[in-house]
Amino acid sequence: MEKYLEIIKNSYSGYWNYLKYELIDLNHWDNYFYGLIAISLLVWALEILFPWRKHQSVFRKDFWLDTFYMFFNFFILNLIILIALSNTASAFFNDILGVIGLSLHQLQLFDVDDLPRWLGLFIFFLISDFVQWNTHRLLHRVPWLWNFHKVHHSVKEMGFAAHLRYHWMEPVVYKSLLYIPIAIIGGFDAQDVAIVYFFAIAIGHLNHANLGWDYGIFKYVFNNPKMHIWHHAKKMPQGVRYGVNYGLTLSLWDYIFGTSHVPHDGRDIELGFHGDETFPKDFVRQEMYPAFSKRKAPKH
Ligand SMILES: [Zn+2]
Ligand SMILES: [Zn+2]
Repeated sequence: MEKYLEIIKNSYSGYWNYLKYELIDLNHWDNYFYGLIAISLLVWALEILFPWRKHQSVFRKDFWLDTFYMFFNFFILNLIILIALSNTASAFFNDILGVIGLSLHQLQLFDVDDLPRWLGLFIFFLISDFVQWNTHRLLHRVPWLWNFHKVHHSVKEMGFAAHLRYHWMEPVVYKSLLYIPIAIIGGFDAQDVAIVYFFAIAIGHLNHANLGWDYGIFKYVFNNPKMHIWHHAKKMPQGVRYGVNYGLTLSLWDYIFGTSHVPHDGRDIELGFHGDETFPKDFVRQEMYPAFSKRKAPKH
């Protein structure tokens, strides 16, 4: 136990050093902080230039709430949890394997270091997107996970920053499940991870933006605003219980596994979920949800 605490502590101090470095060195290409701001400003500019819902304010409903979420989640929380968890998980996983006389290295199916760089990058991207697509399905299917995911679905008016409105438990769930396949494959380097990360952030911002785009024929490969808005629809299609269009970066999985649903132009559909009228509206109570939230007795 002490060992794990030590690892968590070390990864945190490592993270703060890294953070300082990232904020000071503007020329560092994989600078997460400025990368996020640049992508956000770009997608926001596109929203202003080519709005889908023309009446929607440039500072739409919950713009500042979501902007706060964006920095909180992406910058502070996501990376801290990611780094602490991955080092701890790695040590924990190795210990368990050690008991049965294996090491993590032996478990690796193959090492992407043996492959051409672009192929390693492509494999990393495909696997992480597919694992996250499955995780997203779980968030909708498992009731206690859905409680956390409701925060993301409480968005009533879409705009780029809605992308990063999510409960602090979400990265814990996503990164834990993502860790295992990534450890088994092995050999990915930080720069590859950064490229994939930025690409995912850009596509994710676009998915939530006030833009009526679907990228033409590429809609069968990449998730897009016209598709993702149906994921946020308040009214579920007939016969569907949990949700549709679970895609993060790729829409491909929804087309392959039959969970795609784009019946018509969803520009003006109502967003949210059943019962969102009583869902907390502020950051603190959303982050605490479902704790301390009064459960209203269903009316009959
Ligand atoms: Zn969802
Ligand atoms: Zn969304």
